[in-house]
Amino acid sequence: MHELSIAMSIVDMAQEEAERRKVHIGAVHLELGALSGVVKEALLFSYKVACDGTPLEGSRLVVKDVPIEVYCPVCKVPRILASMQWFCCPDCGTQTPEVIHGKELVITALELKQ
Ligand SMILES: [Zn+2]
Repeated sequence: MHELSIAMSIVDMAQEEAERRKVHIGAVHLELGALSGVVKEALLFSYKVACDGTPLEGSRLVVKDVPIEVYCPVCKVPRILASMQWFCCPDCGTQTPEVIHGKELVITALELKQ
């Protein structure tokens, strides 16, 4: 499963950071783009599995969805797409192949356990 290997690398990274800083992680914050190819529910489930038996067991994965943002060459502004089926400006209908956001899969913060 694709999501499990991603979850395992997230846990690995968080664990390394926790060891280096001598802290305990309560939650990992992640930005997940709509175009990242990762299913959020599957990732949340896989995260629990990946945490099992590690110091991160019991920690939470907090996922922030990042919508698809494209650049419209006609309006000359970034536009948020409502659907990933249509890469067209929601305002003027121009095709918008230039993706600015939506491919993210990044850890943005580690929340420490008190
Ligand atoms: Zn436009």
